[in-house]
Amino acid sequence: MHTTTTLILGGGFGGIAAARTLRSLLPEEHKIILIDRSSTFLVGATKTWVMLGEKHPDEVTVNRSTLIPENVEFIETEIEKIDCGNGIVITSQGEFRGDYLIIALGADLTMDSVPGLKEAAYSFYSLGDAIKLQDELREFREGEIVILIPEIPIKCPPAPYEAALMLDHHFRQLNIREKISITMCTIEPGPMPTAGTEMGAYIRSLLEERAIAYHPMKNTVSVDSENKKIVFEDGEEKSYQLLLTVPRHKAPEVITNAGLTNESGWIPVDPKTLKATVHNSPMKVYAVGDNTSISLPGRYKPDKPLVLPKAGVFAASQGIVAAKQIDAEIRGEKSADEFDGKGYCYIEMGGEKAIKGEGAFFEMPHPKMEKRSPDSEQYQDKVNWINSWLKGAGIKL
Ligand SMILES: Cc1cc2nc3c(=O)[nH]c(=O)nc-3n(C[C@H](O)[C@H](O)[C@H](O)COP(=O)(O)OP(=O)(O)OC[C@H]3O[C@@H](n4cnc5c(N)ncnc54)[C@H](O)[C@@H]3O)c2cc1C
Repeated sequence: MHTTTTLILGGGFGGIAAARTLRSLLPEEHKIILIDRSSTFLVGATKTWVMLGEKHPDEVTVNRSTLIPENVEFIETEIEKIDCGNGIVITSQGEFRGDYLIIALGADLTMDSVPGLKEAAYSFYSLGDAIKLQDELREFREGEIVILIPEIPIKCPPAPYEAALMLDHHFRQLNIREKISITMCTIEPGPMPTAGTEMGAYIRSLLEERAIAYHPMKNTVSVDSENKKIVFEDGEEKSYQLLLTVPRHKAPEVITNAGLTNESGWIPVDPKTLKATVHNSPMKVYAVGDNTSISLPGRYKPDKPLVLPKAGVFAASQGIVAAKQIDAEIRGEKSADEFDGKGYCYIEMGGEKAIKGEGAFFEMPHPKMEKRSPDSEQYQDKVNWINSWLKGAGIKL
């Protein structure tokens, strides 16, 4: 067996899971290089804790190198170009040549998609934004809070619903809930369309019980930050004192510039092997996690197919599968390990209660999601899952 080099681009959930799995399978002489621009790793699910001041940012970030196994070379640098034709990746620290490539660069977030949104809104989708929002919420004692989802797909589709439920609990604890209205306006037809109508109806009932107003199918045209108003396509307007939003998600530019995306704007991959279709490349290319698009049975609009939700649990299980596929290929075999579309996401309610929504997304004729009532056991499960990542990359090999 000749020696190989595998390049892993991105050291988030998908990249770390791939690196750990591949290193555990391949003999030492096979080189694995992981490239990421940032030295710190963060679990997205902790951002709502930071937003509410329940955790300090230092408590939810770890040094990325502590999660990467020995004998995986970690290069901290900006990836500037993926040149599949020549089998190289160009970075600020030079070129890297690979036999195998796993692309796990996540999604880029931008507030530029809706005029006025950037000037008007706060977010909790990045740590920096969650810290800014924490300062705002500390002072907020009365008025209208609006949570706006102007576009999908977004990572962790339950997160905006979790934010609404946690804000409700937060203000009840402060005894000022009756002075504050909470409203959700979303482009979605209902909560988390991929999770199915039963789950959607259940989430709506949770919002209703807590007097959180819900407006689906709202197409945002612009935001007037001076007069604090959101303008929708149907002519309606919604005023706010504090606006929270989910930024537009798009594939990182290095991916689009490499011509790796299709009409979805993301990298299409084989749903089971995570292999990307790349012609005329000396590298075998795989892609995992948020930078991919995997179509599911069913549609949420006649022209819009359902797609696998973007979530860390899926990125990690896909990273493991891609690594096993590469290991088998290097040994000249075919891997029996395939991605099964199963995963889970947490919806925290405040008061140390949560729902663990488990789903089988490749089920026919449509994805199946288990509906459970919130309790402290599922909350503890969320805490354990986060800790397992922060303390050692939460992967059972
Ligand atoms: C508020 C919130 C709550 C969430 N809750 C959950 C949850 O409960 N469960 C769950 O499973 N998921 C949750 N998620 C989603 C989860 O965080 C993402 O789906 C997950 O991080 C995707 O993993 P990934 O490996 O695909 O990408 P990422 O984790 O985003 O990693 C991509 C990496 O690529 C690097 N990178 C990108 N471009 C470049 C470049 N040009 N050069 C060098 N490096 C680059 C980045 O620095 C980053 O480290 C949540 C997210 C948010 C925002």
